[in-house]
Amino acid sequence: MDLDKLIRDRIRDVPDYPKPGVLFKDITPLLADHVAFAGVVDAIVNHHGRGTVDKIVGIEARGFILAAPVAYHFGAGFVPVRKKGKLPARSYEETYDLEYGTETIEMHADAFGPGDRVLIVDDVLATGGTARAAAELVRRAGGEVAGISVLLELSFLHGRDKLGNLDVHALVTV
Ligand code: 5GP
Repeated sequence: MDLDKLIRDRIRDVPDYPKPGVLFKDITPLLADHVAFAGVVDAIVNHHGRGTVDKIVGIEARGFILAAPVAYHFGAGFVPVRKKGKLPARSYEETYDLEYGTETIEMHADAFGPGDRVLIVDDVLATGGTARAAAELVRRAGGEVAGISVLLELSFLHGRDKLGNLDVHALVTV
């Protein structure tokens, strides 16, 4: 199976969403195709190797959809990063810039045990602000960031440049 081609075929470009001038990459056709969805999950797990991390961090909301089955197949626990105000217990927060305004994300302060190795999973790496803030939350909560895996990297937005020497893995790059 040519996974790269399948992924590209199943991601839909939506012009002017969520605002004029943005070409949004819609992954719902990919999620609806069981072969593509399973292929993506398996490719993320195989890239890193089962058992190499203790926790998978998923970023609300589309990151959850990929991170949960990745955690299951890894034999790792799942930890959510959520938008501000959604987590019930004591949390750390990070605020970062969007094109217009700011966003704040949170993670439970007791999410990790000492020395936990953590893989961050999201659907799209765009400007890198979300991934960088998630990595900072992992460090503050006592985890060690083993890597960041995304389905799709929008390389023209140079998100990687914000992520220093973190190991960033994208299944498909445009
Ligand atoms: P960044 O912080 O890297 O600019 O944006 C990445 C975050 O915004 C990810 O959590 C991702 O879900 C979302 N995002 C930004 N652009 C797109 C897009 O074109 N398609 C999808 N599916 N998500 C996007």
